[in-house]
Amino acid sequence: MPPTFRNMSKVPRVLYGIGAFEKLNSVLLSNRRNAKAPFIFLVDDVFLQKFDLTKRIPCSYDDQIIFVSTVEEPTTVQVDDLVQQIILNYEELPSGVIGIGGGSVMDLAKAVALLLTNKGSASDYQGWDLVHNPGVYSVGIPTLSGTGAEVSRTAVLKGPELKLGINSDFTPFDQVILDPMLTAEVPKNQWFYTGMDCYIHCVESLNGTFLNAFSQAHGEKALMLCENVFLNSNLTDLEKSERLMMASWLGGISIANSQVGIVHALSYGLSFVLGIKHGLGNCMAIEHLEQYYSEGVKVYRKMKDTHQIDIPSGVCEHLSEKEYQQMTKIALSLNPLWENALGKNWKSVINEKVVRELYEKM
Ligand code: NAD
Ligand code: ZN
Repeated sequence: MPPTFRNMSKVPRVLYGIGAFEKLNSVLLSNRRNAKAPFIFLVDDVFLQKFDLTKRIPCSYDDQIIFVSTVEEPTTVQVDDLVQQIILNYEELPSGVIGIGGGSVMDLAKAVALLLTNKGSASDYQGWDLVHNPGVYSVGIPTLSGTGAEVSRTAVLKGPELKLGINSDFTPFDQVILDPMLTAEVPKNQWFYTGMDCYIHCVESLNGTFLNAFSQAHGEKALMLCENVFLNSNLTDLEKSERLMMASWLGGISIANSQVGIVHALSYGLSFVLGIKHGLGNCMAIEHLEQYYSEGVKVYRKMKDTHQIDIPSGVCEHLSEKEYQQMTKIALSLNPLWENALGKNWKSVINEKVVRELYEKM
């Protein structure tokens, strides 16, 4: 049983299909308030080199494309800067914010849409249900599958003190466009890391104490799709893209009504202290969690070997005492994740020493 009932908000409109991106123009048409209220397209700057996609973005009137670097995961400062820039540039609030990219850009877009109508800094809203007003209309268009950011009620940001999401009923996109063609050219390693994020969402949800029939139904299907994508060599690339896109969606819904677990708790620490990105951090962490997720780790290794992916090791070797403490503190602060993994009495088996020893192995 989950600890509380969740009356979940969800993405009200989804447009799915090969080539669905071409429908963006017609989707936006009915949502433009007037000629002075622009659409702001936040686009992963990897598409500066891929002009094909950029040229197909339906810009008109005062609409603006802002290319975003994803070298770093999104931060609260980045959100505040973008919001200020948009407010200064236009007389009216935008008609909408459209995020085109992986989890980083989609989370950035969700947060910018919210902060345009909620005063203060994005860091004021990191946490649960702190947002008071609906954001401006928002659209998510994934170009990389796995995080589930396209479907989730959170926008994960690095803040001054923590990496933590803006979790609220106002956070989900108003519209999502799922076009498997957009993920066709993702480099292999990145495809694997972000795909494993989805696989790990399923492992943690399905093995958690918060599991319920709703999460299980979505999680099992997503897990099956992941195993299909990463272990079935008979699929075409496009079939893999289609399946991983749906796995990401279903895996995201699964954790929304349960929770993630130990892999994510450790990965958040790696990300905050060492800047290791989410998908890769998850892979580094799961390698050492056989004791907690034995079947999940076994299948993960098979997938990794099948695709000959190298996961860096020794990343914590040169950490200072202070950095170890900070990383451990961040991981241990994520109570619901540990409780989901190990039950209410998780503190009887997990402490600073156990977490530090896990980090020392990475
Ligand atoms: P990402 O968005 O950071 O992108 C990773 C890399 O892939 C970047 O270099 C990007 O330029 C590149 N890329 C993206 N699309 C591409 C394409 N079509 N072709 C070639 N390259 C492409 O990676 P991600 O794993 O999707 O997202 C990670 C972020 O998502 C983290 O910040 C994490 O905290 C967040 N996250 C959010 C949720 C949520 O529910 N909101 C869940 C999990 C993770
Ligand atoms: Zn994740």
